[in-house]
Amino acid sequence: MKRKAWGEVGIEPLGFEQPADVSQAEVEALIRQLNERSDVNGILVQLQLPPHLDESRILNLVSLEKDVDGFHPINIGRLGQRGREPVVGSATPAGIIRLLEEVNVEFAGSNAVVLGRSNIVGMPVALLLIRRDATVTVCHSRTHDLPSVTRQADILVAAVGRAQMVKADWIKPGAVVIDVGTNRIDDPTAKNGTRMVGDGEFQAAKAVAGAITPVPGGVGPMTIAMLLHNTLQAALLAQPALKR
Ligand code: NAP
Repeated sequence: MKRKAWGEVGIEPLGFEQPADVSQAEVEALIRQLNERSDVNGILVQLQLPPHLDESRILNLVSLEKDVDGFHPINIGRLGQRGREPVVGSATPAGIIRLLEEVNVEFAGSNAVVLGRSNIVGMPVALLLIRRDATVTVCHSRTHDLPSVTRQADILVAAVGRAQMVKADWIKPGAVVIDVGTNRIDDPTAKNGTRMVGDGEFQAAKAVAGAITPVPGGVGPMTIAMLLHNTLQAALLAQPALKR
């Protein structure tokens, strides 16, 4: 899907599929090579990696300027510092903010609750919300009484990867809910016997929330749009006159 999207806007996607038993050294050599290539503006490492590979070492190797997913620790680290900007923003979190902006959410002074604290979604989303002056609570698997926390949220971002965990009565009436989760559940009526659902019980939650993103068709396509945006930004950064 990502490759198709790049192709559609005129960005040439190059694929470097590797066998499941590829060695760490081979992946690192490939990334070093792509970092050096002037005709390559963006590099995306498709996660999850096989367990024998050192994911963090691999992500650290991607050149900051070509990190179109925005996963590089320096890019994430800059998000957490006042007065610093990531070279490239994290795609999914930046897409979530764009979705909230589209419905004119009042960030400043709002209560935002983020369910999940992963490096790629929960934590960067929380940092982006703090940057917009929201008061942010980050919940995780050790949080007590989640519903009592989520009921305080004007903005609720669910990124836990637990099918339909967030019930309608966890949501403050009128809250804006972003459902990041992508979970496959059994569905005997579906063609392949399964279907994709989010972290929220969409139909019931829709009746309570002021706005809510569906799964599929919400955050997923927005992530792809932000990857395109980041690739363009990376290409512009490669022009010496525009380099930070
Ligand atoms: P992850 O790395 O597995 O992190 C999940 C987070 O949820 C962790 O912080 C975990 O807490 C927390 N959590 C798990 N179970 C919980 C529970 N019962 N109560 C409270 N917190 C709980 O997942 P991720 O990579 O952030 O992804 C989250 C979901 O978003 C997945 O479904 C993934 O497929 C989806 N996703 C979608 C997109 C998109 O573009 N649509 C992009 C990225 C991810 P601990 O930290 O305590 O373990």
